[in-house]
Amino acid sequence: MGKECAEKTMITLDGISKTYGNYQALQSIDLSINNGEFIAILGPSGCGKTTLLKLLAGFMSPTSGRMIMNEQLIATDKKVTPPEKRNIGMVFQSFALWPHMNVQEHVRFPLKHHRYVNKGLSKNHDKRITDILHLVGLEKFAKRYPEELSGGQKQRVALARALAPEPSLLLMDEPLSALDAELRMDMRKEIQHIHRETKATIMYVTHDQSEALGMADRIVVMNNGRIEQIGSPETIYLRPETEFVATFVGKNNLIKGKWMNQYFIPDHSPAEKWSNLDISPQLKKKNICPIRPEQWRLSSHGQGMSGKITTVQYQGKEIHYTIQVGEERITAHDNITSGRYSHGDTVKLSIRNPESQTEMQYR
Ligand code: ATP
Repeated sequence: MGKECAEKTMITLDGISKTYGNYQALQSIDLSINNGEFIAILGPSGCGKTTLLKLLAGFMSPTSGRMIMNEQLIATDKKVTPPEKRNIGMVFQSFALWPHMNVQEHVRFPLKHHRYVNKGLSKNHDKRITDILHLVGLEKFAKRYPEELSGGQKQRVALARALAPEPSLLLMDEPLSALDAELRMDMRKEIQHIHRETKATIMYVTHDQSEALGMADRIVVMNNGRIEQIGSPETIYLRPETEFVATFVGKNNLIKGKWMNQYFIPDHSPAEKWSNLDISPQLKKKNICPIRPEQWRLSSHGQGMSGKITTVQYQGKEIHYTIQVGEERITAHDNITSGRYSHGDTVKLSIRNPESQTEMQYR
């Protein structure tokens, strides 16, 4: 994809709010989505993810704010462009297939009936259907009906149907949550492959942080109808802005202490002075230092915060420890090669060099 194309803004949400009766489901959402981006909307149940998707699809109007798509105003509180006039494809958790249509009929349907079919697409529907079924790996199943398909195959039909008219934007609402764990992992790779092949702009709603971290170009973390942080998976994981992001995305230890300029002094070990940590101003203001389980270095003697091992779990290449430090219960993941501690051992906890930590994350 050309760089100019990738960086062109496709959608802008400008101060979008939505209330249902007295309940404010979305509060002043500002977000820009670039052409070809894969954006994950990540947040707990009830935070407003589906509401945001419904507004983008045109199923309802915002209470305030404006929405712009491809330089056209598509929604305000007074005027909404209806779904059929937006070039948007949708894939739902429930697949929403029609029992009386076989696989190829599902894919043909939007090509025949949708008002928006990309003008550049071949008028030869049979060729388009063959190409799309090939893309999602369903060529051999073209004549099958939904009841003759597995969960993963049904999800691919839903994807093929949504992609057939070449939508500008593909909205996916928890598309993998009805599938079992192993199939979900395979489908993640398939969706990434489809994104690479089609260069579609994707907005992918999930409450599964590993799905968001693994697939998205950027993640929008939501909580209580607000955006907590927008950033690349690496930024969200390595430099959370808020306490919510620090604990919702991946495991984290929020160590209490005092920030003194560049140094952090943990409450439970005032002789310690941690430096070289890139922590957001909001967390510093709360006198918190987030430390990931893999950021700890454990040793049996020397410098560090002293704690007692309370649980030990062997996990193959790592050992997961719980360590009691004063009233704080800390989680640490240690490399199997660095030795093994037992329940009741006293250990010293120090922080790995942040540079080597970053290196470790990206390896
Ligand atoms: P989940 O992950 O559980 O699907 P979500 O993040 O998608 O949740 P939404 O479905 O957007 O959340 O709902 C946001 C909030 O708005 C919730 O508290 C929900 O109860 C409320 N809500 C959603 N739809 C309506 C409605 N039609 N009328 C009243 N309240 C609603």
